[in-house]
Amino acid sequence: MSDAVRTAIRTCPLCEAGCGLELTLDDDQVTRIRGDRDDVFSHGYICPKGSTLRQLHEDPDRLRAPLVRRDGELVEVSWDEAFAEVERRFAAFTEQHGREALGVYVGNPNAHNLSALLYLKPLLKSLGTRNVFSASTVDQRPKELSASWMFGGGLSIPVPDVDRTHLLVILGANPYASNGSLATAPDWPGRIEAMRERGGRLVVVDPRRSRTAEEADLHLAIRPGTDAFLLAALVSTLAAEGRIAPGAAGEFAQGLDTVLELLAPFTPEAVASTVGIDAAEIRQLAVDLSDAPSAAVYGRMGTTTAEFGTIASWLVDVLNLVTGNLDRPGGAMFAKAAAGAANTRGASRTGRGLRVGRHGSRVRGLAETMGELPAACLAEEIDTPGEGQIRGMVTAAGNPVLSTPNGDRLDAAMAGLDLYVAVDIYVNETTRHADVILPPPSSLSKGHYDLALLQVALRNVANYSPPVLPLPPGEPDEWEILARLALIAQGMGAAADPSIVDDLVVNALVQSAVGDEHGPVAGRDADEILAELAPRTGPERLLDLLLRTGPYGDGFGSRTEDVAPGVAPLTLDRLLDHPHGIDLGPLQPRLPDVLRTPSGMIELDAEPILADLPRLHAALDRAVPDAVLVGRRDLRSNNSWMHNLEVLVKGRPRCTLHVHPDDAARWGLADGASARVTGRVGSVEVPVEVTDAVRSGVVSLPHGWGHDLPGVRLEVAGRHAGVNSNVLSDEVLVDVPSGNAVLNGIPVAVAPA
Ligand code: SF4
Repeated sequence: MSDAVRTAIRTCPLCEAGCGLELTLDDDQVTRIRGDRDDVFSHGYICPKGSTLRQLHEDPDRLRAPLVRRDGELVEVSWDEAFAEVERRFAAFTEQHGREALGVYVGNPNAHNLSALLYLKPLLKSLGTRNVFSASTVDQRPKELSASWMFGGGLSIPVPDVDRTHLLVILGANPYASNGSLATAPDWPGRIEAMRERGGRLVVVDPRRSRTAEEADLHLAIRPGTDAFLLAALVSTLAAEGRIAPGAAGEFAQGLDTVLELLAPFTPEAVASTVGIDAAEIRQLAVDLSDAPSAAVYGRMGTTTAEFGTIASWLVDVLNLVTGNLDRPGGAMFAKAAAGAANTRGASRTGRGLRVGRHGSRVRGLAETMGELPAACLAEEIDTPGEGQIRGMVTAAGNPVLSTPNGDRLDAAMAGLDLYVAVDIYVNETTRHADVILPPPSSLSKGHYDLALLQVALRNVANYSPPVLPLPPGEPDEWEILARLALIAQGMGAAADPSIVDDLVVNALVQSAVGDEHGPVAGRDADEILAELAPRTGPERLLDLLLRTGPYGDGFGSRTEDVAPGVAPLTLDRLLDHPHGIDLGPLQPRLPDVLRTPSGMIELDAEPILADLPRLHAALDRAVPDAVLVGRRDLRSNNSWMHNLEVLVKGRPRCTLHVHPDDAARWGLADGASARVTGRVGSVEVPVEVTDAVRSGVVSLPHGWGHDLPGVRLEVAGRHAGVNSNVLSDEVLVDVPSGNAVLNGIPVAVAPA
């Protein structure tokens, strides 16, 4: 062992669980990664992905230098050449087509990326297009909308207090594989097991007997896409039996009577055949929720990437409210994040209200939500000629060919673009079409603070990880890449100093902080605050500002008392002094202060949601397709981008079609044989795994696979290619209020290949 052996502590940036990692390094070589036993949140837990930061760092296919297309080939160039190429191409493009012909797609990893969370916004603003798309509309947009309309903030999402609850009801989520989502916590399995050890019960509602369902005391194998009916029936049952008991939260809720009246027709008997669950079981679950000393209902992908995603997301919170579980320990509670949360800034109980549909998509007229258009309409916006057609794209850490509906159509559309600039570490199925690829540094050379997802954490914690390794000489930091792109888009040229953007961002945030009359630096001199942030620059300066003006911050000297038992006010320096994180305690009731709605109340009767209920009603007792497709998660997989790590893909193939034995018999499919799965928009051939883990009439295929396209530079993934499930997902199927893609419950036909 050399003298240069050292240990570094950092938070895993790969998913929102945010586990603490302990890295051993010999010089700059990572020799071991294990869970950080002293981490205040994860206590040593990691999943198999966490230890692959080393393989990811060393992956020969990870881009270390920019690529530019020359004579049809992507070739390595210097950073200056790459930015000059972007400037040249961007100028020619806007001259010819204008900025509205530009589209942007922002992928999921940005949600865990400090630089992206802070500097993508100025880039988007500089690009000056309304054609903004992101992974949010193939994921959680319904929940963001329902939370905005009910509570006044897209991340004001109540999370299940798993550590204290007596009854946890999970719909459409598999935290044993995905470790929780929009409910940030390491070691969901351990938390669930601890709950059961103290006498708590787990109920899982899922068309598949997932790994989580295997652990459940009760598994209800619901028909895909029908969670909204089940949730409506649970509320309606509670109302009919006189069990509506909102408790303290009810004092701040408006519109409950209206909601109960509208949901009354959804009795267990009325929905039973639609959801495929006996009315008696639905009634019993309602009673159990009502009788439990505390209970938390939690819905995720299966509920949001479905036809009635917004209604289902809303009903989860309605159900938590009417059982008295909203905002109480053991129920569904709001986190109080240390930095970046809109629900800790400004005046409480007031807000502008969320408006959607301020503009619509050109081809289909799908409504804008939260400044974005639905990803389900990206392909048609590119390949449909006419005024406003998207002719150029910028993507950031995204692979929409594998992640959004009708992947084949989008793939063909991307091939025909006049300009495509990608910020990405790989030449993947989408970026293979790029003219320029700008790779951000290895995650080991980036600082990490989960600004977004700590807003939905199951415990209030704060932890910052500085970079473990220095940036290689000449390589820009990620924020600098985004800032330089912004400057090019603003016409300031490829050589402009990225600190111009950095200074603009920090100035805007400081002005906002001193202008917040309810904040800790209200009325203070902005220059004085800026001076206190010096000499830091970049993301660390912004994070320090957000922490210090946050609910536990030192307020630049205005707060001196402890902000949690034994915890002095926060600054970035203080976080750096606590590499294992700072525990700010279990979630505390936050009503009514958390509310930012126009009425100052929980708006249960939000008009856009109620307006969608007739659509739900009309879908009762519809004919059931012969087979529908659902997705599934695997502990060793993370959407589309980690299949190039041998350690995660070796062993039995994971991209298989799960088929129930009865269906296999009637379709003539044998275990291990190939099936052809055909939907309205596409067809794939995939190996079959016969298993009674899926209910009859349902087939399951994981997403993020299909790596065998020409030009992709993912050697390992190419050997474990699998098929792209989104070749089957139909861009026409969306949840109406949100435009979110329907990825669960897609009608398909299955036959031997
Ligand atoms: S669950 Fe795995 S991937 Fe997610 S943060 Fe923890 S170690 Fe990383």
